[in-house]
Amino acid sequence: MPDTQKTLVLLKPDALQRDLLGDIVSRFERKGLKLVGMKFIRLSDEMLDEHYAHLSDKPFFASLKQFMMQTPVVGMVLEGYDAIGEVRKIVGSTNPREADAGTIRADFSMNVPSNLIHASDGEEAAAAEIKRFFQDEELFQYEKITDRFIFGEGI
Ligand code: UDP
Ligand code: MG
Repeated sequence: MPDTQKTLVLLKPDALQRDLLGDIVSRFERKGLKLVGMKFIRLSDEMLDEHYAHLSDKPFFASLKQFMMQTPVVGMVLEGYDAIGEVRKIVGSTNPREADAGTIRADFSMNVPSNLIHASDGEEAAAAEIKRFFQDEELFQYEKITDRFIFGEGI
């Protein structure tokens, strides 16, 4: 689809343990974001060093990595208009107690690192993170009969 963006989401181990995978996926589906990739990922120490490189000097870095490696995570690539910003809006602020009511983090979580979701925070990050976690052949382009109703004319 022209003029759409793709973004990477990870459903963290707390989402899996708390049986919230379906509820969270449903929030993105209902917005009209299209799932173009989805799989379990067992994160490694090396992957997390890269993924959370911006936090490597923080005191919580080691425990954050341990938290993320407790179970597999669910990786998703979502496509839609302004998908990167729209997904961040639906996810809410990092600290769930500062997140706006109605966001996934505010509605379903209470603390860090267990704030349920990772979502790319910009175009550069989205491109790098999709590449980090998905092979080209794991991303799918397909039509849905609802595309016209969700994305509007000219698709
Ligand atoms: N985090 C944490 N303690 C903090 C800040 C962040 O454990 O004080 C964790 C939290 O799980 C967060 C992740 O580190 O989601 C990545 O932090 P970032 O600042 O990139 O926030 P995000 O982009 O996930 O909102
Ligand atoms: Mg971040």
